[in-house]
Amino acid sequence: MHFRSTNSGDISVTFKDAVFRCLPEDGGLYVPDKATDIRQFFLYMDENTSFPDLVAAVTPSLLEGELNPVSAARVAESAFNFEPELIRLDDNFSILNLYNGPTGLFKDFGIAFLAAVMEELQKKSVSLVLSAVRGDSGVSIARAFTGRKGIRVVLVYPSGPIRGLDVSAFATNGGNIIPIQIKGTFDDCQRLVNETINDRKFSARYGVTSANTINPGRLLPQIFYYLYAFIKIKKQLSGDFLFSVPCGNFGNLIAGLYAWKFGMPANGFIAAMNSNNALGDFIKGNGFTPRPPVTTNSPALDVSVPSNLSRLESFYSEAPAVMNNMVYPVSTGDGPTLQTMEQVWKKYNVFIDPHTAVAFSAAGQVTRDRKGGTHIIVLATRHYAKDAGLIRKATRQNISLPEPLLNLQKKTDPVAIIPPRLGALEGAIASCF
Ligand SMILES: *Cc1c(COP(=O)(O)O)cnc(C)c1O
Repeated sequence: MHFRSTNSGDISVTFKDAVFRCLPEDGGLYVPDKATDIRQFFLYMDENTSFPDLVAAVTPSLLEGELNPVSAARVAESAFNFEPELIRLDDNFSILNLYNGPTGLFKDFGIAFLAAVMEELQKKSVSLVLSAVRGDSGVSIARAFTGRKGIRVVLVYPSGPIRGLDVSAFATNGGNIIPIQIKGTFDDCQRLVNETINDRKFSARYGVTSANTINPGRLLPQIFYYLYAFIKIKKQLSGDFLFSVPCGNFGNLIAGLYAWKFGMPANGFIAAMNSNNALGDFIKGNGFTPRPPVTTNSPALDVSVPSNLSRLESFYSEAPAVMNNMVYPVSTGDGPTLQTMEQVWKKYNVFIDPHTAVAFSAAGQVTRDRKGGTHIIVLATRHYAKDAGLIRKATRQNISLPEPLLNLQKKTDPVAIIPPRLGALEGAIASCF
């Protein structure tokens, strides 16, 4: 599989090039340049296939000529000591739990694979992964990349405490991780990362790339858990089946669309949004006008301009009529989100976090509009115990964080604190290496 830029059909690079220089020079984003047919795998994979086995089998076919079966098996094993978990609730709904990774977020899947595949593809040279992070995504990246040969990681955080990092993995202690605090906002951090990558001289010297979802090496592995859910449930399906996905930057939904494009026979995807639902207008064919973000109880979905917008647009420009029958935008406000958390607890005895509740509520609305026999798989993107306060409010149950997630709350000191200027960041990186 080669990758092209969303801005032009002329560029075509290998997976390795797209991963190690993750922004095309024309300002677009990398997307697969043609569909790989993976339907053969559904003939023999079923509920007995393990997640690492699925990853090890499908990857060589997606990355033909770049990753052989032996390398792919090594990557799968080195990336995943956690698995998705599919729970069937009733005839209408299942939940796909994606929160069993080290930080309790579905983002652990893409990040873990990216780190393992970079180490596998990296030969001789050294590269530097530069990422703007907030919350637990910095910890997810640090965990996945700690000790990876030939890879250094610089995490830039906005003002405020940094939590959950393992100090012994810092470059100052002989490791490969460098957290840098930027005296500014998250937007400053993102701007600085893009400026550094676009400083072609500097980024060539240090081999700079990013671990954000602009990197296709993080997007591609997100298709694996859709395939996994499908092979687990395929024998029980009698009618249509859909996925409901809580959408912020739309990377997760786009990964699902690729799984379908490559041959997974899903009948549709629900693009579940909270009150930040401007992209619903685009999906309905009415164009996209960004609106300022509003704060909700599902903050990972409070996005005004999704970073994957151009990838979504490329699906619609290729086949608009098909897409109109494939993606259903549904928006849920804070009140109904809490009610859904309560209803799911009462009816199924299952806790869900507010992001998952946005997707569950959307799934409920779509089943009401469709003929019977439709089964919807709701993606659970965050461990419910991370939102104990909202769980208490919705269900009156007291829950506590499991031990591994408790460690994420410990404060750590950054290696440097710098003003939000390109020169300051490049200077800090140069002084560390
Ligand atoms: C990041 C995140 C999302 C949104 O995923 P996108 O790929 O950005 O659409 C949804 N839920 C949770 C809990 C997240 O952390």
